[in-house]
Amino acid sequence: MAILKVARLGHPVLRQVAEPVPLGEIRSPDTQRLIDDMVETMREYDGAGLAANQVHVLRQIAVIEVQGNPRYPDAPRIPLTVVVNPVVTPLSEEMEEGWEGCLSVPDMRGQVPRYTSVRLTCYDRDGQTVELVAKDFFARVIQHETDHLFGTVYLDRMRDLSTLSHLAEWNRYWLGVREQED
Ligand SMILES: [Zn+2]
Repeated sequence: MAILKVARLGHPVLRQVAEPVPLGEIRSPDTQRLIDDMVETMREYDGAGLAANQVHVLRQIAVIEVQGNPRYPDAPRIPLTVVVNPVVTPLSEEMEEGWEGCLSVPDMRGQVPRYTSVRLTCYDRDGQTVELVAKDFFARVIQHETDHLFGTVYLDRMRDLSTLSHLAEWNRYWLGVREQED
């Protein structure tokens, strides 16, 4: 396995649309290695998720996991979820503002409105069809990662940029004194 280089904002790959992975290619050694490397990279940098665009690959693959993550100390646990060719459908009109960060936009946080409940339909890493309903933080991460696959970053979703903060200032002025690493 390998830790992959993460593209930062300004790299064109973050603005491109990833291609769906043909079902027959999901179990190929190349795709499986990419998924393993994405998981390792996400864990190395304490991401809650990582989309293939962020590691310079235009395929519709994202990985999501939150457990004891120092970047999101109060977030509920999300087991490792590998998402291939996701289709995300909002299940209500309701949106909620919440803080997001992104490994491709280092050391920043901003308030982003997201649907509070979504249906996710995708393949898992074995090519099995998965359909699940996600709420709140899990729904937020799914929307964030799926956006990446279509060339969208969280900044595009912010209603205004007045909450956009560097991490140290976010800790100091928005969340109190707790120090946090990015
Ligand atoms: Zn991101």
